[in-house]
Amino acid sequence: MGEKLLIAGNWKMHKTPQETREYFERFLPLVEGLEGVEILVCPPFVDLPAAAEAVAGSGVKVGGQNCHYEKEGPYTGEVSPRMLRAVGCEFVILGHSERRRLFGETDEVVNKKVVSALEEGLRVILCVGETLEERESGLTFTVVETQLKLGLSGVEDRLEMVEVAYEPVWAIGTGVAARPEDAEEVHRFIYSVLEKMNPEGAKRVRVLYGGSVKPENAEALLSQPSVKGVLVGGASLKPESFAAIAAAGARLARLK
Ligand code: PEP
Repeated sequence: MGEKLLIAGNWKMHKTPQETREYFERFLPLVEGLEGVEILVCPPFVDLPAAAEAVAGSGVKVGGQNCHYEKEGPYTGEVSPRMLRAVGCEFVILGHSERRRLFGETDEVVNKKVVSALEEGLRVILCVGETLEERESGLTFTVVETQLKLGLSGVEDRLEMVEVAYEPVWAIGTGVAARPEDAEEVHRFIYSVLEKMNPEGAKRVRVLYGGSVKPENAEALLSQPSVKGVLVGGASLKPESFAAIAAAGARLARLK
């Protein structure tokens, strides 16, 4: 068996610290002993200390959903990579489509964040993906390639610290996931772009699929050869459904 599949949960703006503790009380026994998967939960910033305390010793990791690119300073409302590390984060999600669409993050801003997070020793999950309009105009590969090249500009030699999440915007929170073969096609393309940047480093990157992943479709998506994990939004909020997705990953990991 090769590298572990990454099963990552993005809670977005959900749950308080108390709800976080209750979640892990139910979740951890459900995933105890699962092999072949690395499990990551990315709660809101204020929940990170409670999450880190709850997962201590379990093997489950915690990460941030975003960060600023400066180390510190007059950036009201922001959190730096160093602060994420200090509360136990190993990963940070960057360039999520909600950050790009609702908070105006450009590829240039995302790139600054990627550089800064890597400098601080965080592993980065860089999100890329096309809108429905872009897909229908045949722009999927162009959009994904641009987001990858600009997002990873200057860190091409550090791909071993990077994971990529392919998240078609039209599939996020809609209940309509990409068809497994369509996800596979884009994942293969992503690997081809990464290989041109850094052939050895590209082999270490896990390209995750994200967009309406649920227990019912996780196995079909994860069984695609170039799908090396999933980034799960809505279905990661319930311990039982996120654990079922992790269990599907553990079954598939044996075959990969
Ligand atoms: C996400 O927010 O990264 C995501 C994939 O959301 P959902 O699973 O709810 O579509």
